[in-house]
Amino acid sequence: MAEYIEAAPQSWHHRLVIPAVPKDGTSFTESFFVSADRKISYWGQLYSLDGPLEVEVEAYRTEGRIITSISVSGKLTAPCSRCLEPAGVAIEGELRYLFSLDKEEDKRAEQGLEADGDEEVMILDSWEDEIDLGPLVWEVLITLLPSAPLCSQDCRGLCPKCGADLNKTTCSCSDDAGDPRLEVLRSLVQKDRENN
Ligand SMILES: [Zn+2]
Ligand SMILES: [Zn+2]
Repeated sequence: MAEYIEAAPQSWHHRLVIPAVPKDGTSFTESFFVSADRKISYWGQLYSLDGPLEVEVEAYRTEGRIITSISVSGKLTAPCSRCLEPAGVAIEGELRYLFSLDKEEDKRAEQGLEADGDEEVMILDSWEDEIDLGPLVWEVLITLLPSAPLCSQDCRGLCPKCGADLNKTTCSCSDDAGDPRLEVLRSLVQKDRENN
C-alpha cells in the first residue's frame, strides 16, 4: 500500500442516483462525509486531512441536463511553505458539473458547438442511471489545496544560511553578515574611517 493517495480512494465512490433527481426541476440535495487515512499527494506536496471532509451535493434538472454542484469543506494540514512546520488550513469551495441526458448534445459537443462556455458538459449514456461522485469530489478537493500554506501570516521562515527556524530562535547569521556585496561596502567604510 502506497504511503499516500493520488486519486479518489475507493471509499469515496458515492453515487448520485439520477432517478432520485426530481423531474419537476426542484433540487435534490444530499450530504455525506469522506475521509482519507493516508496523505494526499498533489504536485509534490503532501496534505493530510484533519478529520473527514463534508461534501454537499445539489442536483436539479433543466433542459435535458442535470446540473450538479459539489461543495467540499474541511480542514487539512500541510508543511508551511516558509518554515516547514505543520500549517492548518480550512478549505471550502464548490464546482458545478453539467450532465446531459440528450444524445443530440453529444453531436454538438463533437462539433465544438459547446453552448455553455467554460463549463464542461458530460454526456451520460442512456443506460447510465447513476453518477459516481468520488472522482468529482476529488477534483473539487484538488482545486482547493493551498499551493503555499503558511503556519501564520507573519511566519519568519528558516534562515537561508543556517536553516534555523526563525520563529523559535535567532541565529548569528544577521541579515547582512554573509552577503559578499555588503562585505565590499563594509571594507570601504572601514578604509574611510582609517583615512580620517
Ligand atoms: Zn511557518
Ligand atoms: Zn542563520
